[in-house]
Amino acid sequence: MAQVLTKSSLEQLTKLPLPWQTSTPASLVALERFPTGRAWLEISRQNLRHNAQLLQALLPAGCRLMPVLKADAYGHGALAVAQEMQQLGYRAFCVASAKEGVELRQAGIEGEILVLGYTHPELAPLLWGYQLSQTVVDFDYGLALAQFGQPLKVHLKIDTGMHRLGLCADQLPQICELLRCQNLQVEGMFSHFCVSESLEAAQNAYTLQQIESFRGLVEQLSQAGHSIPKLHLQSSYGIFTYPQLHCDYARAGIALYGMLSTEADTLQWGGQLRPVLSLKARVALTRSLQPGESAGYGLSFTAAEQMRVAVLSIGYADGLPRSLSHGRGSVLLHGRHAPILGPVCMDQTLVDVSHIPEAAQHDIAVLIGQDQGAEISACQLATASDTITNEILSRLGRRLEHVLL
Ligand SMILES: *Cc1c(COP(=O)(O)O)cnc(C)c1O
Repeated sequence: MAQVLTKSSLEQLTKLPLPWQTSTPASLVALERFPTGRAWLEISRQNLRHNAQLLQALLPAGCRLMPVLKADAYGHGALAVAQEMQQLGYRAFCVASAKEGVELRQAGIEGEILVLGYTHPELAPLLWGYQLSQTVVDFDYGLALAQFGQPLKVHLKIDTGMHRLGLCADQLPQICELLRCQNLQVEGMFSHFCVSESLEAAQNAYTLQQIESFRGLVEQLSQAGHSIPKLHLQSSYGIFTYPQLHCDYARAGIALYGMLSTEADTLQWGGQLRPVLSLKARVALTRSLQPGESAGYGLSFTAAEQMRVAVLSIGYADGLPRSLSHGRGSVLLHGRHAPILGPVCMDQTLVDVSHIPEAAQHDIAVLIGQDQGAEISACQLATASDTITNEILSRLGRRLEHVLL
């Protein structure tokens, strides 16, 4: 998990003790303790709390947010987000893989940790040892988990129309059989919406049908004498579009981080959310290009007139999409947009600062976030690189340093 600092300034970054200045043997000091100030994320705990409170307020009493911490909390740092949510009183979390769950447990996160995705049944001792709750992805998988000699905590996933994971809502006998397994401790049952981003007639009808089949199943199970502790349906979009469902949890991912998947949806539903993350990188140097000089791999950019170029110490290995190359994206320097010039490289990116005479070595460029009243949102980055915010955020690289504000 990414190393987290508590102060943002370069001063704080450089004040950290070097290995020979601490009593800890150098071999035991993690390299990540020594940030380089090259490229980093700033995480606003205040905005995270704001989003959690805003989402929680949309839900009926009795329904609690279940923060989704998969993919290192969509790039924000799973441990830091989990700790903040724990402070707000949240006691149930989702991850995508057992390994993500183990990392949180080892770092001291308590309460329920639900693994939303597949885990090989041979890893049952790990699930059991770390008290993770595993999603039962279908009937055979449930039987395989039940082969383990100890009771495993599980949530049953029900396919109500997405046709990805889950037992079908009409597999009542199989679901009852799993509920009778001694070694499955069924703590919850859930389904996932696939078109809850829209309330247009066709999509709305589809989602209502999903809700109806889930409700129908709960009813049938209750008639068969089974009551399941925790029921959950919504993820971020569902919290906005179907807030009144009476569930126990709502699995909040992208909205918790301050946006929805696209710019348009964020405007439509999430106008009150606040982005939690900013992405910044240092200017390694500036240089000029004479008319006719080319720059970067493939010499694919040639200056028509004299220009100034800044070299940023961030690249696609840090999660900056390569599809922003050749001016499709820009960064902020001194509150102004500096277009990306040529192709984004693995560790570095060239930007045009001809119109920003103040731009200089060691300056801080903002790739996502605000700078002197200007802003580049993750939504805009997603639009410019033809993807969704979830992908932009979750691919932010582990090489980035994290600064908690
Ligand atoms: C990722 C995921 C979520 C969270 O989705 P968001 O749209 O980011 O809120 C919820 N449920 C499941 C099953 C998921 O895989």
